[in-house]
Amino acid sequence: MSDTHEPIPAARPVIGDEEIEAAVRVLRSGRVVQGPEVAAFEAEFAELVDMRHCVAVNSGTSALHLTLLALGLGPGDEVIVPSFSFAASANAVRLVGADVVFADIEPDSFCLDPAAVEAAITPRTAAIMPVHLYGHPAAMDRIMAIAERHGLAVVEDACQAHAAALHGTPVGAFGAAGTFSFYPTKNMHSLEGGMVTTADAEIARTLRLLRNQGMEQRYANEIVGANMRMTDVSAAIGRVQRAKLAGWTEQRIANAAYLTEHITAPNVVTPRVAEGARHVYHQYTVRVRGDRDAAMARLAEAGVGNAVYYPTPIHRLKPYWEPDQKAGRVWDLPETERAAAEVVSLPVHPALSGQDLERIVSAVNALGEQL
Ligand SMILES: *Cc1c(COP(=O)(O)O)cnc(C)c1O
Repeated sequence: MSDTHEPIPAARPVIGDEEIEAAVRVLRSGRVVQGPEVAAFEAEFAELVDMRHCVAVNSGTSALHLTLLALGLGPGDEVIVPSFSFAASANAVRLVGADVVFADIEPDSFCLDPAAVEAAITPRTAAIMPVHLYGHPAAMDRIMAIAERHGLAVVEDACQAHAAALHGTPVGAFGAAGTFSFYPTKNMHSLEGGMVTTADAEIARTLRLLRNQGMEQRYANEIVGANMRMTDVSAAIGRVQRAKLAGWTEQRIANAAYLTEHITAPNVVTPRVAEGARHVYHQYTVRVRGDRDAAMARLAEAGVGNAVYYPTPIHRLKPYWEPDQKAGRVWDLPETERAAAEVVSLPVHPALSGQDLERIVSAVNALGEQL
């Protein structure tokens, strides 16, 4: 029901009848943990990533964490990560005991700047973690070339970018591994959940061991592992959403096109899309040049949900900032700082009506030059 006076939420997770029926079917079956639904979800997800191996886990953070473990990363290794991301990207590096090295972003895509990546490489660098932020693919052609030249692994954080692509190659199919999240606000969800994609059968096997206590055969543990299994209830919901993803993605792209065409406020910069990129608009993120807090308050008053992803760059969060201060380490990240101060995400989700889109545009354009 869309009432003109109801606020338009910034995100709207879908738990519809089909998702509920799928969950109930699994609950009645009695096979609820990492059974046939998980296997089917993995097989179906592979269609999104050029038929790479897919390993389902219980969250996007677990996907990143296990991938770094499977690649053998640990103390003494450095991983290059953007500071302009969700903390999970850097947290995964620290969870395996490796060191985070922050690199700056490109102002247009909000993703890692390949030149900054190259400048951040040291003899200890082991991997690069590009984040396909907001659903825009990072500059993977240039990042892969740098990685190959220096013999580095690439782990794609594709947690916000299901079905995004660059020059026809889907995200999650470039690096040694790609990681996806199925948290409720993402472009598709499984309540909680994650997926690792890889072309390497050995890495896939190690991931399968790591998510299940190091066991392939029960009680014949081969390595030290964790319990990061996905439930069959989650997988069944994920399969329903996977089948709807293509339609939802087209709707997000169409909603974004409408917003970009109609937003004309002089101090609001609409998102740019790199040449050859398929942006799947997990977020539709503008830059506000002026008083952002005032702009956000006025949008909220007009019933337009909005949010800042992310107000504090990771390097300024306590667990990163304090050790860096102690070590006298200072990161030079001007584009990251500028983005954190300017960005605002507007609703773009597939449930928006034509009327919702018009309301968003008129609220943004009403900001005018008074910022
Ligand atoms: C959501 C997200 C994650 C973590 O996924 P969870 O499923 O919430 O653990 C990691 N990186 C980015 C960029 C994300 O947006």
